[in-house]
Amino acid sequence: MKFKRRLSWKPVRRGGLYCSSACGNGCTYRAYLDAVAAATKLAKELPGFKPHVWENLGWHYSVVARGGRVSVYNNFGSYSVLANLRYPHAGNTEWGNVTARSAQKAVQKLSANLRREIRKMQLMLQHLERATK
Ligand SMILES: [Zn+2]
Repeated sequence: MKFKRRLSWKPVRRGGLYCSSACGNGCTYRAYLDAVAAATKLAKELPGFKPHVWENLGWHYSVVARGGRVSVYNNFGSYSVLANLRYPHAGNTEWGNVTARSAQKAVQKLSANLRREIRKMQLMLQHLERATK
């Protein structure tokens, strides 16, 4: 009887490779170190954020805050911010996905968008409450 090998997301180092059986992409240890360095550098630009590095057909990184509810990604020099109200890294984005040329600008842009939405909602609520008086 042949046993099926159980796939794991725990990366294993073999020579220059650092990849998990679940990924199977042949990711390199160099790519892992680069992702860690880039995440650490980005975290220094955003006080309160921590580096987050993961593997899925390559090594990727972001910085996270608020238990993973706020994430900032660098996509080749274009920074995006995700803010969600529920589970970290679950793609359950409730508010916000903006891009900007710097991490700080992306965070500021999302904050401005959220404030604008709140103002709109406050106005709508006022109109509704006054209409129904
Ligand atoms: Zn891999």
